[in-house]
Amino acid sequence: MCALGLAWVRVPSAPLGYRDFKVCPRLGSVTGILRCALGSARSPKSKVVERSRDHNHRTSTIFSFKKFILLQPLLNQSIMLRTHTCGELNMAHVSQNVILTGWVQRSRDLGGMTFVDLRDRYGLTQLVFNMETHAALCVQARKLGREYVILVSGKVSERSNKNAKMPTGDIEITVEKLDILNESKTPPFTIEDNTDGGDELRMKYRYLDLRRNVVKRNMELRHRLAFQTRNYMDSLNFIEVETPVLIKSTPEGARDYVVPSRVNPGEFYALPQSPQTFKQLLMVAGFDRYFQIVKCFRDEDLRADRQPEFTQIDCEMSFVEQEDIFDTFEGLTKHLFKTVKGIDVVKLPRMTWADAMKYYGSDKPDIRFGMEFIELNDLVKGKDFKVFDDAELVVGINAEGCAEYTRKQLDELTDFVKKPQIGAGGLIYLRYAADGTLKSSVDKFYTPEHLGNWAKAFDAKPGDLLLILAGKANKTRKALNELRLEMGNRLGLRNPETFSPLWVYDFPLLEWDEDSKRFYAMHHPFTSPKPEDIPLLDTDPGAVRANAYDMVINGVEVGGGSIRIHDKTMQHKMLQLLGFSEEDAQAQFGFLMNAFEFGAPPHGGIAFGFDRLCSLFGGSESIRDYIAFPKNNAARDVMIDSPARISDDQLKELSLKVSI
Ligand code: ASP
Repeated sequence: MCALGLAWVRVPSAPLGYRDFKVCPRLGSVTGILRCALGSARSPKSKVVERSRDHNHRTSTIFSFKKFILLQPLLNQSIMLRTHTCGELNMAHVSQNVILTGWVQRSRDLGGMTFVDLRDRYGLTQLVFNMETHAALCVQARKLGREYVILVSGKVSERSNKNAKMPTGDIEITVEKLDILNESKTPPFTIEDNTDGGDELRMKYRYLDLRRNVVKRNMELRHRLAFQTRNYMDSLNFIEVETPVLIKSTPEGARDYVVPSRVNPGEFYALPQSPQTFKQLLMVAGFDRYFQIVKCFRDEDLRADRQPEFTQIDCEMSFVEQEDIFDTFEGLTKHLFKTVKGIDVVKLPRMTWADAMKYYGSDKPDIRFGMEFIELNDLVKGKDFKVFDDAELVVGINAEGCAEYTRKQLDELTDFVKKPQIGAGGLIYLRYAADGTLKSSVDKFYTPEHLGNWAKAFDAKPGDLLLILAGKANKTRKALNELRLEMGNRLGLRNPETFSPLWVYDFPLLEWDEDSKRFYAMHHPFTSPKPEDIPLLDTDPGAVRANAYDMVINGVEVGGGSIRIHDKTMQHKMLQLLGFSEEDAQAQFGFLMNAFEFGAPPHGGIAFGFDRLCSLFGGSESIRDYIAFPKNNAARDVMIDSPARISDDQLKELSLKVSI
């Protein structure tokens, strides 16, 4: 509150009026004046005097207060340039004088009248310029180009030709004053929902792309998800703590992005692939419940659902077991679905990793539809059909109601499974025709009775089509998973507006890599084995299950985590199993093992891929649509043209030489 002296300053305030505030001249700066003004405005004792109701006068005065406008964050809505947004006016406002600001979406010249659609973040409002009553204004309006930034004042009028599709479609503004705040070059693509701009062009001018409704709505969805996440986490006493971005390269996981250190020549920071070790250290520090909406960096080959920098909702809790993590984050999932999509999610089903692989051939099953795998080894072997006899696994799915598929459709499916990225040798089918007859592509090896047994195993009905693959177990499951998803798409069973979340748990602790002949941590090296499997660490490490879990929604892994190792000896043993020498283990993770010697509590956590969650909630497969400034497939930001070379001076300063 300002108590030193008085002066008057005009601040635009309520629609079409002014408020004069007592201000302190000794504060000198505009910021000081405004702070003081706001303080006064809030005080019941302040003298607030309505001075003028002349909005034209107001409009021109605004420009002499340009500096004030730059300080908008300090101010509330009532003292901005406009009285309303372009999305809010309706019949209730008819006859009111208003001031609107925004971008020219399009204009139409109909002789005596010029119509302009004015757009801002909140919507579109139709402006009318009347040649008869305001000829000069109308001439001015005819010169407005697309994306010009304008300020208009005028009266809200009822439209004679209402547009039921627009929220503001009942009214228009009869313009009485027009100010061009800024001109615009013609944009390189149309700022419409269905734009004519290609991907690359839209990314180069992303700030224009972001003006499009569809992209803007994605950003709003992202904001709501982040906001509701913070609400929920805060309500459960989680504290958001920032962890460093310049950290240390670790050999596990994906490739690191690295940053050279000028003050430590020849040494590099790495950008975090996740804040994993830091959140564990926060547990050692006693922070008990941590979360962070945080950027992570992984130098991987890119796809539609990957970006070099992406965002996680990263969480960790102390004194918990797996069940507590399930409860807490099932709660977060329900909260987000409820508050952001208005959907009630009931209890999440749970599936062991082993079952997910057996029945869906994937650790991220899409359970919006059934079509579970049925294994046929016992029914098909020993009948001289070499493909089945030699196969480690014969397994199939029932495509219900598809018995009428044509030869061409079956050939398409065969071509699909034989694609190199899917890798099956061929596809065997059994039609269960509507008349009850069974017809398969391997009739000559199997009697109708045999085929009847297959149909029984699938619980098939007349009209169904069984699709069967055979070969090495893992490869065949993987291929059948792809075929199942393809059939799900063809049969319209994967509606993006239906959400089927579940927990997949009991993942293997380790994964054997044939090329390097060593184990890798399936989740990460800090994941604890299931206590009952600990003895297997010495005898059969590959069979050890982890206290690790993923949350999967509609076939997308949206989150994953584990109960951690919090014991130095166990952590050390794990690193040994992963092939770390004593020295390397110390150099890489000594800080964590040391911390475990100072009273580390039992702890566990999870991280959600925030961009993926956004795209899933938005019904899209591409996370790029939900990131304000994403990178392209070549990891480039084409708008700022990055990555880019640095100068020789910079290289020298960093003690770096480039050899290409
Ligand atoms: N840090 C892990 C990850 O990024 C998640 C976790 O274990 O909490 O996948």
